[in-house]
Amino acid sequence: TYSRALEIHKQHLSPMVTAYFQKPLLLYQGHMEWLFDSEGNRYLDFFSGIVTVSVGHCHPKVNMVAQKQLNRLWHTSSVFFHPPMHEYAEKLSALLPEPLKVIFLVNSGSEANDLAMLMARAHSNNTDIISFRGAYHGCSPYILGLTNVGTFKMELPSGMGCQSTMCPDVFHGPWGGSHCRDSPVQTIRKCSCAPDCCQAKEQYIEQFQDTLNTSVAKSIAGFFAEPIQGVNGVVQYPKGFLKEAFKLVRERGGVCIADEVQTGFGRLGSHFWGFQTHDVLPDIVTMAKGIGNGFPMAAVVTTPEIAKSLAKRLLHFNTFGGNPVACAIGSVVLEVIKEENLQENSQEVGTYMLLKLAKLRDEFDIVGDVRGKGLMIGIEMVQDKMSRQPLPREEINQIHEDCKDMGLLVGRGGIFSQTFRLVPPMCVTKPEVDFAVEVFRSALIQHIE
Ligand code: PMP
Repeated sequence: TYSRALEIHKQHLSPMVTAYFQKPLLLYQGHMEWLFDSEGNRYLDFFSGIVTVSVGHCHPKVNMVAQKQLNRLWHTSSVFFHPPMHEYAEKLSALLPEPLKVIFLVNSGSEANDLAMLMARAHSNNTDIISFRGAYHGCSPYILGLTNVGTFKMELPSGMGCQSTMCPDVFHGPWGGSHCRDSPVQTIRKCSCAPDCCQAKEQYIEQFQDTLNTSVAKSIAGFFAEPIQGVNGVVQYPKGFLKEAFKLVRERGGVCIADEVQTGFGRLGSHFWGFQTHDVLPDIVTMAKGIGNGFPMAAVVTTPEIAKSLAKRLLHFNTFGGNPVACAIGSVVLEVIKEENLQENSQEVGTYMLLKLAKLRDEFDIVGDVRGKGLMIGIEMVQDKMSRQPLPREEINQIHEDCKDMGLLVGRGGIFSQTFRLVPPMCVTKPEVDFAVEVFRSALIQHIE
């Protein structure tokens, strides 16, 4: 069956989406933090699908609620009301500070950010949108303008530039740099960054101001930021930087958007939302992935004022947004996060994992950096700590494959795909972290031998 599956995949599924491993995985079953393949092998899932399975694969309580709702009502379209939608809206808004109380339900992170961009322009009456270099906000043609991870972009025929031009008036500000110093592990490590990686907050602010000033007619509509850049390889900003950036954007009449697609729902441990870790209050928050534990759903939350600005100017509709099954799942995911203390677990087990992994950085010259917060951790691989050049892709591929063959699935990120991402379901335990770190260490030893 395995070779037949590969054949079908090759013939009928787009080559645009590449398989994650040289020997791709054919997955049959999932249970909490574990996945099982066609040959009965089990894998500890330290990537949660892609940062999506927040409370565990096929969580029994989530399954039970989903099945109950499937038997009752599947679909209505958002123009009809139904109890799961109202129950969910109340529960979600209770988790956000005033005045973030108005919810739009959609189906994916890209859709959520598309809508947020529209809101920012409708509300500010301005055009320009700012995002960071290295940002990932989605893959729809419109939002691709904000995404700044090169491999997701396409050169159009000569003279037309990059695909980002489909979304005009987007400017990319400075990024957190892949060797950002402001990681919580800084206190327990000797810094080995090259000097140009260690830019202070002031320098970033200066660059950010330059970006705002180059924006055509300085007509800033909105500014998008991930509280920690995920796809770019778990990149953090210097302390206080985002707060200052929000202020500069607001001075120019723009609205600030926190993309919580990866960082929300307790994953960062210390707070429920990533923006809270920066002590900022966004005007719009977008969320997806972990919101439905793998079921397609997403949301945009904003202020009544911004919601009104958009409603005044257009009718917006989404066939599947606010689907009854999605809403029922969204509600039970929030209940499970609370009942099982998963945010606290992210904090405790995440800190434990960060400290354990930091030791690998001291042990191996090819581990250039270990950083992150809660259960969102990046391990950046370099040729050596002096040069800080990324480890060649083939070598990283091999370590990745070896981890998989030893039963551990981890993610990848960064411009050169040089950062391993460890982002397990939030129910992960310390013994599982011990197993993961041991597997990762064995793969590194195998590599240098
Ligand atoms: N924002 C962020 C921060 C993301 O990581 C992603 C997906 N990787 C998206 C938006 C887009 O989400 P989706 O794939 O659901 O469209």
